[in-house]
Amino acid sequence: MSGGGWNVIRCSACQTCHGHRGTGRMCPHCGQRLQTDAEIVTSVATASELRIEVALANTPDELRDTLRKRLQTNQKLFNQDEPISFKDLSQVLLNATDENGMLTVQSLQPLLERSSDALEVHDLIEMAESQGMLVRLNPDCWQLLE
Ligand SMILES: [Zn+2]
Repeated sequence: MSGGGWNVIRCSACQTCHGHRGTGRMCPHCGQRLQTDAEIVTSVATASELRIEVALANTPDELRDTLRKRLQTNQKLFNQDEPISFKDLSQVLLNATDENGMLTVQSLQPLLERSSDALEVHDLIEMAESQGMLVRLNPDCWQLLE
């Protein structure tokens, strides 16, 4: 185990990948303690690369190529400073995703209707895409990047 870098780790309990500096102790998805032999899928040097690799690791094979292309196109966006609204926006998006980190207009709409902000769902998605938080996988399905 080499220190310093960022690792994409696959939880042996739920098979979901997450990123961590070093090896981590707990799976953020299922809360299980990570085994010492938890699989390190890949290691990268920076947090922005990590975000891409985690998203790819959690994406079904058949969608991975599409996602990789989108992510490479959006690469420069990962290096921008996070805007002030980033935290709130990411919380809304997180609430709208299913267990695979996928999000649709249908899942997001009810959350926006409940909030006091008069945000249009497509505007929100566009904003999130431009900030590299979401990547469109098909016309009505987005992957939330961690
Ligand atoms: Zn897990």
